[in-house]
Amino acid sequence: VDFWADVEEAPRDPILGVTEKFLADPNPNKINLGVGAYRDDDGNPVVLDCVREAEKRIMGSKFMEYLPMGGFKEFCDHSLKLAYGETNPLVTGNKIAAVQSLSGTGSCRLMADFMHKFKPGAKVYITVPTWSNHHNIWGDARVEKETFRYYKPETRGLDFDGMMEDIAAAEGGSFFLLHACAHNPTGVDPTADQWREISKLMREKGHFPFFDMAYQGFASGDCVRDAQAIEIFLSDGHMVGCSQSYAKNMGLYGQRIGCFSLTCNNEQEKIAVESQMKRIARATYSNPPLHGALLVSTVLGDPELKALWYKEVKGMADRIISMRTALRNNLESISGDSWQHVTDQIGMFCFSGMTSEHVDALYEKSIYMTSNGRISMAGVTTKNVETLAKAMHEVTS
Ligand code: PMP
Repeated sequence: VDFWADVEEAPRDPILGVTEKFLADPNPNKINLGVGAYRDDDGNPVVLDCVREAEKRIMGSKFMEYLPMGGFKEFCDHSLKLAYGETNPLVTGNKIAAVQSLSGTGSCRLMADFMHKFKPGAKVYITVPTWSNHHNIWGDARVEKETFRYYKPETRGLDFDGMMEDIAAAEGGSFFLLHACAHNPTGVDPTADQWREISKLMREKGHFPFFDMAYQGFASGDCVRDAQAIEIFLSDGHMVGCSQSYAKNMGLYGQRIGCFSLTCNNEQEKIAVESQMKRIARATYSNPPLHGALLVSTVLGDPELKALWYKEVKGMADRIISMRTALRNNLESISGDSWQHVTDQIGMFCFSGMTSEHVDALYEKSIYMTSNGRISMAGVTTKNVETLAKAMHEVTS
């Protein structure tokens, strides 16, 4: 018997499918603006100096044992300080349940599984648009999904009124999946004042904010500032959850290192919640990998290395910000039109406003990006920005 005859091919992943197309193109001058991975001005992947130094320090480590189900405790402690603030009473009072996760994706999946198990029937509200994998993650975990308005194509900015209406209309006690900073794919974040209003309304409605923070430090260049949304919600007395990833901000993409956390009301609750996070981890992958946890703990545990890391994150953010200016200037000088949204948006992506037809036309010119017109700014360099701007003008005019 053929057990798998009914299995149909899965749809192509909209982001990783772009990489496949790029790799298949023989043109030596091809440009990949698909996947969100940082590149230097020569288009090469980067290993941060703080990570190189941490690698030296852990080299020859005799410890290759399993980590516990919740991962490396020291790593989780450092991560909570980074996300919630060193002196936050929830951190110092040991009221945050946390486990090491398989990067941001793994954190989100743990949250989705946790919701399914302990808040059955609760819905998760997801921004339109969002990182495509959010739908896969919560869908596969069998959590009911709803969407809420976020982005306004006409202004290429935030649909604040629409967002507030949808938050108000959602059934009380719903879960809202928020991007803590550098929204993917739009590059549009609420201002601090807008976050305050969103927080107040969500508190009135008794909603739960879950922050996906895949880009801490990448938005403004300042890790503390990029966590301000969480701070605002905490100061309003919310219970919150957070998914952290060190893929982008520490360049540890392939190490799969992140942290999943939920704030609790007291230490006892924290112990129970954390034990259930570990129970899910146990049945899913047993325990997380060691190397990335050692690297991050080494960097965050040494004030000098941490300072170097802050400097290097800022360096990456600044290069992206300067490429936004270069792309906008090039586009405006060729087209005479306004491309202000390119510099208004922040983080790794520029939501260009180009249609899938425009993007198809760019493929013909060996320039690759997702069909929703999202440009990974990390792939833009001083060497290719002019070519890119010309091509974008040609296909859009
Ligand atoms: N959330 C968002 C919004 C993302 O953009 C990404 C990375 N593309 C992730 C989570 C997770 O990435 P990773 O699993 O590599 O940390």
